[in-house]
Amino acid sequence: MKILDIREKTISLADPMRSAAIGFDQMTVSAVAVVTDVARDGQKVVGYGVGSIGRYGQGGLLRERFIPRLLAADPETLIDAAGESLDPFRVFEALMGNEKSGGHGERPGAVGVIDMAIWDAIAKAEDAPLWNLLAEYFNPEPADPRVPVYGSGGHYHPGNGIDGLIDELTSYLDLGYRRVKIKIGAAPLAEDLARVEAALSVVGSGDNLAVDLNGSLTAETADEWLDALAPYGLAWIEEPVDPLDFTLQSSLAARYQGPMASGENLFSLADARNLIRHGGLRPDRDILQFDIALSYGLVEYLRILDMLSGQGWSRRQCIPHAGHLLALHAAAGLGLGGHEAAPDSALIYGGFPDGAAVEGGFVAPPQAPGIGFETKSNLWSILEPLGK
Ligand SMILES: [Mg+2]
Repeated sequence: MKILDIREKTISLADPMRSAAIGFDQMTVSAVAVVTDVARDGQKVVGYGVGSIGRYGQGGLLRERFIPRLLAADPETLIDAAGESLDPFRVFEALMGNEKSGGHGERPGAVGVIDMAIWDAIAKAEDAPLWNLLAEYFNPEPADPRVPVYGSGGHYHPGNGIDGLIDELTSYLDLGYRRVKIKIGAAPLAEDLARVEAALSVVGSGDNLAVDLNGSLTAETADEWLDALAPYGLAWIEEPVDPLDFTLQSSLAARYQGPMASGENLFSLADARNLIRHGGLRPDRDILQFDIALSYGLVEYLRILDMLSGQGWSRRQCIPHAGHLLALHAAAGLGLGGHEAAPDSALIYGGFPDGAAVEGGFVAPPQAPGIGFETKSNLWSILEPLGK
């Protein structure tokens, strides 16, 4: 397998919703198509990658640096030991040539979207869904036939109060979800506690509700908020404070007994290791949300899983951020703890392949070859022209 061409474009994910950290009205992601010389069913195999929501596209980095660098690499240096398929680990080495360590910035998202397209092409060439390959090569256990999934939403929408929140979460339960997550931290404490109680009135118990503070608390405010949330027995409290303030995170974990979650804004093995070393998180209850697409892709994520294992963490504590289709393959194939999903299938980053259903809080992994972007029609209508 050789790379013939790599194309990229920026996709808009604009939406008027807000979290405590950002509005999404200018949100974008990068998409790439990696065209290969392998043919299947009379057509060239093309791998696709799409970024994960929250950090904007990386078109400049892709156009100026990573795509030209990979296209300039000797094709023989990118091939696996059998001399047939692309080797994602060797592709990663080529992409990261002349890149210094540390200071990861936006670079991991640019590399991650190419890494994703490479894995997609490899799995398509083998006519297998990606989760199947991941289980075969990187998981001592069989793939999970069903993945626990939670409905992620409850954003602040302009003009949409408690009634709107209740309607939204009720629609998630109607779709088959049991556990949901809502945003808090952008409103006064009393107002957000009312939102938490409204959500609990829908999902029934604290174990079915997680809250995401998007790093909005500080050393001055965190104790009051966590003490107020503690009696609800929530599934977890996510990113209560700045994701890089490991000392503060650690002090909160010593005070708050319930599960906490973090990691979606750490984009490398080195950053993940620092969180584990210094963040005070507890392997018996806390959730790690490193976003595969934003963190250099699957090659780096597999290294993160190895690091976690060495530090006494189970893969079941990992639930990647943002509900990307790639993350669903990783959850099923690598034996992670579950999957986040934006349940509204009208969103191009939300839902699952067309027709996939959540049943009792679980979803089956996709069956299409590769990652299966082709099976989510609203996203595919944007991606397909890239591969032509
Ligand atoms: Mg979050």
